[in-house]
Amino acid sequence: MTTSAPRSVATVLDDDPDSRTVAFGSNSVQHGSAVFEGIRCHRTADGSAVFRLDDHLRRLLASARAMGIRHEYDLGRLREVVLRAAESGGLRDAYLRPVLYTPDPRLGVGLTAFRFTLGVEVWPATDVVDPVEPVRLTVSPWHRPGPSVFPVGVKATGLYALSALARTAALANGFDDAVQLDPATGRVAEATIANIFLVRDGVVTTPWRTESLLPGITRDSVLALASRLGYRTVEGPVDRAALQAADEVFLTGTAFGLVPVAAVDDRTFDQHRPIFTALRQSYRDAVSGLSSTPPGWLTPVPQRAETGVRT
Ligand code: PMP
Repeated sequence: MTTSAPRSVATVLDDDPDSRTVAFGSNSVQHGSAVFEGIRCHRTADGSAVFRLDDHLRRLLASARAMGIRHEYDLGRLREVVLRAAESGGLRDAYLRPVLYTPDPRLGVGLTAFRFTLGVEVWPATDVVDPVEPVRLTVSPWHRPGPSVFPVGVKATGLYALSALARTAALANGFDDAVQLDPATGRVAEATIANIFLVRDGVVTTPWRTESLLPGITRDSVLALASRLGYRTVEGPVDRAALQAADEVFLTGTAFGLVPVAAVDDRTFDQHRPIFTALRQSYRDAVSGLSSTPPGWLTPVPQRAETGVRT
């Protein structure tokens, strides 16, 4: 799951449409003071649609609120800027990264003093989406932070130093990614930038939200789709032994969808993954509008050719 060097196709800085850059001295660069989302749009029969746009934007607003970040965006305005960026990128399949950041070139960690604004970076999905080959995981010695350290449901850029630490150590040891444990329970929480699922005897299980994890939007979608396909789903405690005993293991996240896990440390899983395969197909059908989806899951991207947004 290493990412190749991505080339973005559009940068939309809402308060400074003529610029593609943020000052090196800005507080967001110097202190990681920003909140963000990763959102996908996918090719559909009629053009392109953003998957669960409002759910992502609500999470962005919640992240800003949790950090005490002051800004002038409501859901409607965020939606407008993100869709404008998606349109200006001109890609059917894209990864959109809205970031509420501060361009203020000042140091300090008291965020109330800073002006926050929205920037959106657009990448071709193929440049950001990790390969979908099965990945090999190792259980990381680096746990997720507990709730008294940081609210892990908040997508703050600075928090990803912790994921980088765990992923980089896993890569150095020859693995693709790391399973991170909850610091209090020692049970499985999630991977560095993805949620984790296991299948045992036909039951689809993912760690419950009481573990230290980001409750992903893909995780939620997969739970809904699994129920629709008639599988029993469980959000519950997952200890390391349960992971080892699983028939199938997979990861979920917006960038790449569902990715099969080939091994966790020295436990390898059968390459025949019937339930994973069914769920991945169901997810692909949902995001590309080939199956009916709950209201709000697909937002069409307006066709290109207006605005004057610089790309
Ligand atoms: N956990 C972490 C730590 C993540 O960064 C992500 C990616 N946003 C996920 C889980 C998956 O969340 P989602 O399905 O909403 O992309």
